[in-house]
Amino acid sequence: MIQFYNVSKVYENGVKAVSDITLHIKKGEFVFLVGPSGAGKSTLIKLIFREELPTRGQVMFSGKNIVRMRGREVPYMRRKIGMVFQDFRLLQQKTAAENVAFALEITGASRKEIRRLVPEALEQVGLKGKEDLLPGQMSGGEQQRVCIARAIVNKPLLIIADEPTGNLDPNTSWEIMTLFQDINRRGTTILMSTHASEIVNTLKKRVIELSSGSIVRDEESGVYRNEL
Ligand code: ADP
Ligand code: ADP
Repeated sequence: MIQFYNVSKVYENGVKAVSDITLHIKKGEFVFLVGPSGAGKSTLIKLIFREELPTRGQVMFSGKNIVRMRGREVPYMRRKIGMVFQDFRLLQQKTAAENVAFALEITGASRKEIRRLVPEALEQVGLKGKEDLLPGQMSGGEQQRVCIARAIVNKPLLIIADEPTGNLDPNTSWEIMTLFQDINRRGTTILMSTHASEIVNTLKKRVIELSSGSIVRDEESGVYRNEL
């Protein structure tokens, strides 16, 4: 699903954020991306979403070289990726249902499809009955569920979640992780950056650790940090 071949990213100011990364993630995997602040996690995510282009190397997503991809193909590629953020990024003046519907509207979905898919996505994340609430009327966990519903409503191949439990208390974080595992079991690949060591240590998924822009560890059933 995702392949990086000798990818490096040097920003205009000369900072080398990612150094010679080669990486393969297969369809259906659940991968935690860990490492200290500044290690290059966000840059790696931006390279997959093509928000940044690599300075060297190639990035493949779903069989396509996204570095060489034409600009007009990019929106179609991004539709196959659902993004989930630490700070939710919901539209504050829109209800839960309207936030999810908006993600479909921008892809040109019909009103009929929107009427069918929005309630389905909200039900899948456990928000049946909360469709008409505004973000300000919801708890953090509920807002993150809306964010996840928005990410899955287009039925993406991949979910990229950037510290999705970073603003949530431990119990709510576990509820959200259960939801991500359900989504993964239904076949969606998940790449999640996180600092939640207890979650990583308990779930025993593949762990990729970045440090100063390099992959320093890539383990099946890994832990958050190996003891020295
Ligand atoms: P992480 O997500 O692991 O915290 P980042 O990918 O955000 O790491 O950052 C990696 C390095 O690249 C850091 O040194 C950061 O300061 C730098 N960096 C990130 N984005 C930019 C940018 N747009 N321009 C310049 N340097 C950047
Ligand atoms: P952002 O500040 O992230 O651009 P928006 O409110 O403009 O937020 O976008 C709403 C949501 O749509 C985003 O949070 C993200 O989940 C999704 N999104 C943003 N840009 C794209 C894109 N180019 N393709 C697909 N989905 C996108």
